[in-house]
Amino acid sequence: MAARPVRPLSILTYHQIAPAAPRGTPFRGLSVDPARFARHMRWLRRLGWQGLSMRDLDPYLRGEREGKVFGLTFDDGYRNVLEHALPVLRETGFTATNYLVAAHPGGENFWDVPKGVPASPLMRPDEIQTWVAAGQEVGAHTLDHADLTATAALEAQRQITQARGVLEAVAQQPVEAFCYPYGHYGPEHVDMARAAGYRTATTTRRGRVHAGDDLWALPRVPVLRTTHFPALMQKLMTAYEDRRGARG
Ligand SMILES: [Zn+2]
Repeated sequence: MAARPVRPLSILTYHQIAPAAPRGTPFRGLSVDPARFARHMRWLRRLGWQGLSMRDLDPYLRGEREGKVFGLTFDDGYRNVLEHALPVLRETGFTATNYLVAAHPGGENFWDVPKGVPASPLMRPDEIQTWVAAGQEVGAHTLDHADLTATAALEAQRQITQARGVLEAVAQQPVEAFCYPYGHYGPEHVDMARAAGYRTATTTRRGRVHAGDDLWALPRVPVLRTTHFPALMQKLMTAYEDRRGARG
């Protein structure tokens, strides 16, 4: 099924909400400072924007509702998102989706550590339940942060499909949002995500969601450590005002 938003929609991608690692650390830009995140969300709230989890964004993606909304997603399930972002989500009334690496609750970002990224803890089961109890959504990011395009078909299917059941057991809520690790996927993985029962799947393809986009291959807008508020606003406003705008 294709997305049918009335206006192009932005789905923001965050990873860690934490103070910046030392200069020279790989992928340092993927950590947004807690104070900056809080400021951005408060300003957006004041300007009338509503941040929504993929579950809450669903009717907007399908063209059943229209509003000044954006998707809010976090990849990998870092504990620092619970620590630093959840209080801000409570304060602003925003909801968000955190895509968890299903087989590793309480673990760390083992897939990044060999690249020189500092180890950072992932949410434990009790923390995942705290996240859910606050009205936030758990999404799936495979069992093991698998690079699906480098994985045999049967194993890719297991990574996509089993992550859902594993996370539903922990979160005690339906898990209907999926995200491709590294943004790596092929058409066969889109089919697998759909067949596994997810309602949406997100990628790292940059851009806004337009009518006709595949709901299981949705583009997103990355937010980095250095993304200033005017740039963030521009990404959202352009999307809101420009009904038939060029892909951005
Ligand atoms: Zn990831």
